[in-house]
Amino acid sequence: VREYEGQGEAMRTIQPRADDAWDYVIVGGGTAGCVLAGRLSEDPATEVLLLEAGGEARGLAVRVPALVQKLPSDVNWLYPVEPDLSLGGREDPYSAGRILGGSSSTNHMMWARGNYRDYDEWEALGCTGWGRHGVLPYFRRAERFEDGRDPYRGATGPIHVGRTKVDHRMTDVFIAAAAEAGLPRRRDYNGEEQEGVALAQVNQRHGLRHSVVDAFLAPARKRRNLQVVTSVLVTRVLVEGGRAIGVEYRIGDRQRIAFARKEVLLSAGAVGSPKLLMLSGIGPPRVLERFGIPLVLDMPSVGQNMQEHPAASLVFEVTERTLNQDLTPVRLIRHALAFVFAGRGAITSTSGHAVAFLSAGPNSTVPDTQLIFVAFGLSDIEDPNRGGERLSARRLTARSGGRSAGRRQAAPDPLVTVTAVVLHPRGRGEVSLRSRDPTTPPQIRQELLGDAADLRALMDGCLIVRRIFDTRALRPYVVRERLPGAAVVSQEAWGGYLRGHAFRLFHATSTCAMGTGPEAVVDPRLRVRGIGSLRVIDASVMPTIPSGNTHAPTIMIAEKGSDMVLDDRP
Ligand SMILES: Cc1cc2nc3c(=O)[nH]c(=O)nc-3n(C[C@H](O)[C@H](O)[C@H](O)COP(=O)(O)OP(=O)(O)OC[C@H]3O[C@@H](n4cnc5c(N)ncnc54)[C@H](O)[C@@H]3O)c2cc1C
Repeated sequence: VREYEGQGEAMRTIQPRADDAWDYVIVGGGTAGCVLAGRLSEDPATEVLLLEAGGEARGLAVRVPALVQKLPSDVNWLYPVEPDLSLGGREDPYSAGRILGGSSSTNHMMWARGNYRDYDEWEALGCTGWGRHGVLPYFRRAERFEDGRDPYRGATGPIHVGRTKVDHRMTDVFIAAAAEAGLPRRRDYNGEEQEGVALAQVNQRHGLRHSVVDAFLAPARKRRNLQVVTSVLVTRVLVEGGRAIGVEYRIGDRQRIAFARKEVLLSAGAVGSPKLLMLSGIGPPRVLERFGIPLVLDMPSVGQNMQEHPAASLVFEVTERTLNQDLTPVRLIRHALAFVFAGRGAITSTSGHAVAFLSAGPNSTVPDTQLIFVAFGLSDIEDPNRGGERLSARRLTARSGGRSAGRRQAAPDPLVTVTAVVLHPRGRGEVSLRSRDPTTPPQIRQELLGDAADLRALMDGCLIVRRIFDTRALRPYVVRERLPGAAVVSQEAWGGYLRGHAFRLFHATSTCAMGTGPEAVVDPRLRVRGIGSLRVIDASVMPTIPSGNTHAPTIMIAEKGSDMVLDDRP
């Protein structure tokens, strides 16, 4: 019997048998984990184990974009979040995929890289190699873009990316209106320049979700050197002599150990990775002491610095038919045919048909706001389970990803929605523990609009939306503004609306931030500072949140991370 360093509990010495040990043990088969598993197992001599808490990514709701709201709640962690005082005490849960592919199997498929200046800022913060020239080859390597190859885009990578195939007249009108309001029309906001308005890009193939499972994992699963185990909860990383030697995990009611000959790679996401580090004794001593977890490494910044994109929607009633009217049986048949024969139409719809990146703030020179347009809208509906409580659009959005499955109803009127997103929020949240029991969800605290500058920035973005809807191009189509409504004009009224309706896009980052200073959890090669053979590779390592949706940047991080792991092979 011997003790694993610092972990205090006597455990039987287990000599790694050939079938208990792999070169790399990847924790979390989500966005980053599937990319890593695919890339690291390309060499037949490298043995890789991927451990995922959720099940296989199966079912129509995973594959068919328009069914994303019908995903069952058991594929979603729905992590509880502490009451948000900046939103009147609301407790909207945090959605994240608990399924093979992680949030890549449950997200809304919007494909955005962010602004190249985001990555130059990472480099300026000390993350050598992560500037625009260091990340661009990995964005290109990952993707197969429908327009083909150019100096910015990739054409031969595993993940299929193209423009939305919904083809809606209101989308074209919105783009024309945004151009009239002064935004450059952009063919490709993931190319040389980001600023402007364009059709949304999505990771889809033949109109179906093309997730990291389809793109990176499925082709690798026939390899004998890759083992994928689903429905297992990793409970901690085992550290011995200052280096990670493996992980402990639960399979049903049994506890097992997987040894890593070379490295343990944490890819459990911006909530899961810091939680696992803390359960393993790596984190803020005050948290570990409170729960009686023996300290392995004093690292106060684990779980801190959580960043998220605050968002709010404006909903307009319009004169044209929108997707709200497409749910009649006859129209559904038409859309089904368009989908089956051309991979186009309403069935391929995600939550964005057009996207704009712009500077809404008075002094900003880089895009500080994203607008997401969709020819569809929700209005207040009755919640059948809560005695006539009215559910507003933002509550439904907060539940996106499962909880409201079966209860979402499109409003019968023709509506369009534009969501304004604050790209560079100042507010910070944190992930901590509630218990040393690994099955207990972590504690998440975040005041989405706790910083007055973020509230102001969200209002600026919403005011731009109103300006776009007051252009010559759009005015003839607008019946009225449904949300927040024409009465909301003063700063005070906007403040009230935003506190009542703002929501997060589930883009959490930076809880194990990369850097060089004492506050960094991982170094620029994604190695946990102070522990050998342990890296974090997922959205949690981003030093700052990028100017756009976070799926593509996470894939880029895993692509680059896989090269680092292979280059550093002992
Ligand atoms: C509803 C929703 C919509 C979104 N829409 C978009 C969008 O349209 N475009 C976009 O770019 N981004 C979007 N995002 C964000 C984007 O999907 C994420 O930022 C990205 O996928 C994060 O990747 P990750 O690898 O860090 O984490 P994840 O993909 O979440 O992977 C983490 C994995 O680890 C597993 N795991 C966690 N803990 C354990 C444990 N203890 N043991 C075993 N396994 C564990 C999880 O089950 C999961 O599979 C959305 C997210 C959500 C939730």
